Amino acid sequence: MCFPESIEEISAAVGIACRHRVPFVARGSGTGLAGGATPVGDPLVIVTTRMNRILEIDAADRVAWVEPGVCNLDLSRSARHLGLHYAPDPSSQQACSIGGNVGTNAGGPHCLRDGVTSAHVLAVDVVLADGVITRLGGLAPDTPGYDLRGCFVGSEGTMGIAGRIAVRLLPDPPAVRTLLLDFASVAAAAATVSGIIAAGIVPAALEMMDAPITRLVEDFVGAGYPRDAEAVLLVEVSGLPEGVAAEVSGIGQVGRDHGARHVRVAADDAERELLWKGRKSAFGAIARIAPDYYLHDAVVPRTRLVEVLARVREIAAAQDLLVMNVFHAGDGNLHPLLVFDAREPGIWERVHAAGNGIVRACVEAGGVLSGEHGIGLEKRDLMPLVFDPDDLDAQARLRDAFDPSGLANPEKVLPRGSRCGEATRAPEGTWV
Ligand SMILES: Cc1cc2nc3c(=O)[nH]c(=O)nc-3n(C[C@H](O)[C@H](O)[C@H](O)COP(=O)(O)OP(=O)(O)OC[C@H]3O[C@@H](n4cnc5c(N)ncnc54)[C@H](O)[C@@H]3O)c2cc1C
Repeated sequence: MCFPESIEEISAAVGIACRHRVPFVARGSGTGLAGGATPVGDPLVIVTTRMNRILEIDAADRVAWVEPGVCNLDLSRSARHLGLHYAPDPSSQQACSIGGNVGTNAGGPHCLRDGVTSAHVLAVDVVLADGVITRLGGLAPDTPGYDLRGCFVGSEGTMGIAGRIAVRLLPDPPAVRTLLLDFASVAAAAATVSGIIAAGIVPAALEMMDAPITRLVEDFVGAGYPRDAEAVLLVEVSGLPEGVAAEVSGIGQVGRDHGARHVRVAADDAERELLWKGRKSAFGAIARIAPDYYLHDAVVPRTRLVEVLARVREIAAAQDLLVMNVFHAGDGNLHPLLVFDAREPGIWERVHAAGNGIVRACVEAGGVLSGEHGIGLEKRDLMPLVFDPDDLDAQARLRDAFDPSGLANPEKVLPRGSRCGEATRAPEGTWV
């Protein structure tokens, strides 16, 4: 394991790994949920936590250059005095790094309208698998040639390591309103989600929580969530005051049309922050009832939310597991939480069987394997569910163009055997 303090030190570490044919794994804060930064065998783990400097904030151009280990929330905090912020806000934003966000193409509650990480990364200085430093993308509005920056974002450390990143900063909106709508059924809440988008309103955030997680969060945080609701929606709109007022009223109307029991609009910033604190504490709240949970991440078309959520409950019940749902409903990004105690004999088999069933149900409903956490190790062997051998081969060729040595995070993303000439190029040693 090594802790470089500059892009040149990353390059030196990768160069040594390359000369000795040792695989290497980039690691940011280690909050990833797909095992992307988990070492398999005995690779060199290159940890970026010491590279946590914000190198430059150009307020006029609304661009920040950062090192990869900068904590996501620190960037927005540092730009606040300029009236700017960094839009992608994973729920882990107090801990996760911008480099890790680039690695996973992270999303977050406020990515519905503003887009996920890829939409906010302008340029990346990358250390390639032979130690060479190169720039992908650029600050100009449109860079010529293929969008290699776009290929790199979300590549989970398999195409090199981001050593410096230029990100777009957005101006803080003049007006922000947050609404809490509660419903007597999940179906009514899900219909409201589709209804809001169909009405031409794209909120900044549109999150859903089902009854079990709503009650648990309320016990934990006291955010003012209704304990008797079957589902709640947390909706945020932002922009110019007149537009925001119209959207608040439109969302309230759509909610009531679909049977919302109450539509509450946070009266001030303190109430708004409390509502969000509830949502962002949801995973932590699980600790009140069980020591472990397995969080899944898959996407389904919004119109299939109701049936897929019902299927998720059936699959969990078949394994005698408790499941809770808190997720980015606006983009159909489900996050079923399977709650358990790892000390129970045989529990892992049941948890994995349920997880597998949930992912398959999402794919069968026209969804995809991951909305934001990535493929990593966790879903590597499920890739053939959505890609045929030709698709996998095309991805392997793209990866090989970045990393012909096969040393960059080799065990991740693509199933074993799908990489060109993998058998002949596999490094010697204990890692395979
Ligand atoms: C409570 C909780 C809530 C979460 N909520 C969200 C959410 O709302 N949205 C979301 O998207 N994710 C969420 N996550 C998952 C996780 O926080 C994100 O995937 C995050 O982007 C990972 O950042 P990290 O710094 O921890 O990266 P790591 O876990 O260290 O690494 C993640 C991947 O990125 C690669 N990587 C790391 N650094 C670099 C680099 N410099 N260059 C190239 N590749 C690199 C790694 O090899 C690995 O494949 C959540 C996690 C937790 C624990």
